[in-house]
Amino acid sequence: MGHVFRTEEQQMAVDALKRFLDAEIDPLFNKEYRDRFVPREVMAGVMQRLTEFGLVTGVVGEAHGGMGLDWLTTLMLYEEVVATSSDLSVPVLINSFGAHLLERLAPAPLRERYLPGLLRGEQFVSIGISEPDVGSNVLEIKTRARRDGDHWVINGEKTWISNGSYSDFLICTCRTGDDPRRGLTHILIDRHEHGYEVRDIHKIALNSQSTAQIFLSDVRVPIANTIAGEGEALKNTLSLFERSRVFVAAQGLGVARRALEEAVRYAKDRRQHGKVIAGHQLIAAMLAEMATSVDAARLLTYRAAEMIEAGVPAEMEAAMAKYFACESAVKIARQAVQVHGGNGVTREFLVEKLAREAIVMPIPEGTTQVQQLIIGRALTGVAAF
Ligand SMILES: Cc1cc2nc3c(=O)[nH]c(=O)nc-3n(C[C@H](O)[C@H](O)[C@H](O)COP(=O)(O)OP(=O)(O)OC[C@H]3O[C@@H](n4cnc5c(N)ncnc54)[C@H](O)[C@@H]3O)c2cc1C
Repeated sequence: MGHVFRTEEQQMAVDALKRFLDAEIDPLFNKEYRDRFVPREVMAGVMQRLTEFGLVTGVVGEAHGGMGLDWLTTLMLYEEVVATSSDLSVPVLINSFGAHLLERLAPAPLRERYLPGLLRGEQFVSIGISEPDVGSNVLEIKTRARRDGDHWVINGEKTWISNGSYSDFLICTCRTGDDPRRGLTHILIDRHEHGYEVRDIHKIALNSQSTAQIFLSDVRVPIANTIAGEGEALKNTLSLFERSRVFVAAQGLGVARRALEEAVRYAKDRRQHGKVIAGHQLIAAMLAEMATSVDAARLLTYRAAEMIEAGVPAEMEAAMAKYFACESAVKIARQAVQVHGGNGVTREFLVEKLAREAIVMPIPEGTTQVQQLIIGRALTGVAAF
């Protein structure tokens, strides 16, 4: 499935990672910590191992201490992580994009101070955009940073923040001016130096990692912690979304692929009406539909990654990949439950967990509806937001 696109080098990298994931991560996340919160030190230990395979390190150039892999290779590795554990894929995603953002946009002193800890897998970053009243429309961000001498004083609340309770620092999108397009600024808030309060959110799935509310109350941060200059955050967030959406597409793809694998395994084993259920035409049809959607999701996702690697604008293609892969994950995970019959809704089988995880996928990094709006605007030149 899709292997025809891999070079020998990519295949070796994927195989080495998969051996590690199957041996150590699958039992840890899908049995020992299934639906249970993974403590920070355990998560950090896993992240440290993953950085050796090119996760997080892959998106940063060698000049800044990373491995400098291309986007497609990084995405292939990432798909393996997701197919093993969506929970684990979240800190990998957020630390990767925190690292990418620091490398691309942070002034040298900030980059030199905060990037190495992410590349070693020892530190966690959070990226704070969403707020209780601000989801799909980032232009409405209310968290306010006001200048006070050589400091920012920050007040506000962020919500749905991945890595929240693990985080050592937060890259916070703050309102520093009233101009809708030039009024947002990225500011790095060090949790140990400047402090912020964190409260975890319990969800339908993905509870082995942290999604949290973050409360900022008169937090004083040096102006030197500004990333990429005042008023630059909207432009930079939108360009970051183009890349991070391809990774969220790979989250949908990974969940869908694992659901298909579980369904195929079960269909070859379970017997009804005198033969394995794989021998019933309606089951075969369901598996065929699932497999075709998984491959279509992969092709859209790889295409967007290739375009990003080539430096070609890929806003619409990234939106298509995210939209299709994440909606397919919901459908395919449900079909995998159906193939399992009653067993599919028990905690004894992984498809129950996959179905809950799939439901989450069409929400972060721009909902399905937001992706449709982006695609519509690209097709017609008319914004329907
Ligand atoms: C597991 C998880 C992890 C997350 N991690 C992070 C993170 O690390 N950092 C971060 O900042 N955020 C994070 N988020 C937040 C995520 O980005 C938002 O949930 C998402 O952008 C949607 O915002 P909302 O939840 O406020 O929904 P809303 O924007 O309130 O949308 C509600 C519904 O209305 C629809 N809608 C909204 N506007 C329109 C429109 N113009 N036209 C048609 N339909 C519309 C939406 O599609 C949706 O169906 C995370 C969310 C989840 C679930």
